[in-house]
Amino acid sequence: MKKDAKTMKKVAERCTQYAPNGECHCTNSTAGDNVTCKNCTHYEPDEVCTLHLYKEIAENHDLMS
Ligand code: SF4
Repeated sequence: MKKDAKTMKKVAERCTQYAPNGECHCTNSTAGDNVTCKNCTHYEPDEVCTLHLYKEIAENHDLMS
């Protein structure tokens, strides 16, 4: 499965469960460069997503290539 930074960004941008973690609680921030699975509370280094959404989203949106 493709797990590069570009794909993680694209997946997170399309993900309804994206939940950014970290210090910033800015609710109004634009969906900028920091939107990526790596910044999501559901991110897990081995399988990427503990909700198992990553693969599904990547496949549904044809992001694997
Ligand atoms: S880690 Fe999972 S829940 Fe979080 S943005 Fe990526 S696919 Fe969505």
